[in-house]
Amino acid sequence: MRSLMQDWPLTVDKILDHAKVWHGDREIVSRSVEGPIVRTSYAQVHERAKRVSNALKALGIVPGDRVATLAWNTARHLEVWYGIMGIGAVCHTLNPRLFAEQLCYIINHAEDRVILTDLTFLPMLAEHRFKMPTVEAIIVMTDREHMQNSPWQDAHCYEDLVAQSSPDCAWGGFDENSPAGLCYTSGTTGQPKGVLYSHRSNFLHTLATLSVEMLGISAADTIMPVVPMFHANAWGLAFSGPAVGAKLVLPGPKLDGASIHELLEAEGVTFTAAVPTVWQMLLTHLRETNGRLTTLKRVKIGGSALPEAIARAFRDDYGVEVSQLWGMTETSPVGTIGELVPEVAAMAEEAQLGYRLKQGRAPVTLEMRLTDDAGNVLPHDGVTCGHLQVKGPYVVGEYFKGDGGVILDGDGFFDTGDVATIDGFGFMQITDRAKDIIKSGGEWISSIAIENIAMGHPKTANAAVIGVPHPKWDERPLLLIKLCRGQTADKQEFLAFLDGKIAKWWMPDDVQFVDDIPLGATGKIDKKRLRDQFTGYALP
Ligand code: ADP
Repeated sequence: MRSLMQDWPLTVDKILDHAKVWHGDREIVSRSVEGPIVRTSYAQVHERAKRVSNALKALGIVPGDRVATLAWNTARHLEVWYGIMGIGAVCHTLNPRLFAEQLCYIINHAEDRVILTDLTFLPMLAEHRFKMPTVEAIIVMTDREHMQNSPWQDAHCYEDLVAQSSPDCAWGGFDENSPAGLCYTSGTTGQPKGVLYSHRSNFLHTLATLSVEMLGISAADTIMPVVPMFHANAWGLAFSGPAVGAKLVLPGPKLDGASIHELLEAEGVTFTAAVPTVWQMLLTHLRETNGRLTTLKRVKIGGSALPEAIARAFRDDYGVEVSQLWGMTETSPVGTIGELVPEVAAMAEEAQLGYRLKQGRAPVTLEMRLTDDAGNVLPHDGVTCGHLQVKGPYVVGEYFKGDGGVILDGDGFFDTGDVATIDGFGFMQITDRAKDIIKSGGEWISSIAIENIAMGHPKTANAAVIGVPHPKWDERPLLLIKLCRGQTADKQEFLAFLDGKIAKWWMPDDVQFVDDIPLGATGKIDKKRLRDQFTGYALP
């Protein structure tokens, strides 16, 4: 028997249609790549997105074709997203922080037919375009005046295309399981692999994020996604923002502390989201300038673990509530959310903080479990560490073109590559990525836990812990510290700081001061590079 409810395919074009009709005048503010602040609205973005659809159709783009974007968070990028997805083509977000060789690999693997790029990335494209045989057209997301910077005669000017194309274009009308977006993992292990999102998976992810427990945003909020649209869907904010009609503030290419602070204050931002490194830069700026946060209420942090020092600084110095998200490209990306349950909210503030530092609980749309190496399911007792596995309607089932083969186990679970615990209140805590955990004498040491404490030392600008080979214990932790500008310190100072905060056998065998801690393409510490850098390093 079939149900008797309407068939209303969950396609993401309906999200922007909704924003246009019900929140049409709500502002979208962007820091443009050309420099000035640009103001537009959902109604205008909707109309221009339709024009983009027609421009792409005129270039021969048909449903299923991959159209790439190489762009910062701006209203133009938003128009392009919806313009591509609305006609059933696949929006392939390219992460400009990847090495050019990796980008070429990804573009060729995806067989992108068109690339829409910001001016920023023209030099890279100019140098490597000859390695991208499937790319037939490049659209430079700027106006005629700035096209003089284009290295090619045949490149299209975005604003010309928008002006010349009709705003009449039917969107949707295809199966909700059709692909909508493509994003590659950053390839910290082997070649990047593509995650092909569907309209349905994006739509369901959007609905899941809208719950009060997750993002809890509304039309009353002014939201600033600092987290880039080119990586893991800006944590869904380019869908959730229009879905509730929130004012959007898009920071463009300037992500330093001063520029972010200026926008937060000037536009009255109430809600924002990004990886910890961005917040570290903002907090440093605020301290150096005696700055205040007068409108910001909530910050979501994810992508890597929330350091305690950041959570405390936002709460105690600026009155801003911080909560943590965990997820990955493969989970669309929001998996768990660290919102408190009543039992925890009733605890004293210090005890609550312990839970805020965990990665959080699963929403109704995510099944989550821990297993041992043999695949046995482990208890939720807060101490047993296991492989974190997930399952749900917006979790990857297979990588693009079958890369990596079968990735689900017999029960249909995807292994995240993270090692975690889950406590009695359901809070999951990442202990480490399976490949970063330090294996010492058959036991596991969490590099993340040590880093987070070391980050709290007042002289630390950034901290990383890696495992280095040890003749007796297999591996032992080495703590690497980048000091704040102008600071000096000795090893003992840091070891003393850790003493009593971690188990004795977790104590790093050595501390090294480094000029820089390399970050990968998604703003996280690049442990692979650090391990390479310290190959052959002999512990004292
Ligand atoms: P990559 O392409 O490198 O996998 P992702 O952004 O998809 O990039 O990375 C996902 C990984 O980031 C997770 O598997 C986890 O290890 C880490 N991560 C994400 N959020 C958190 C968090 N809140 N705390 C700790 N680690 C996190």
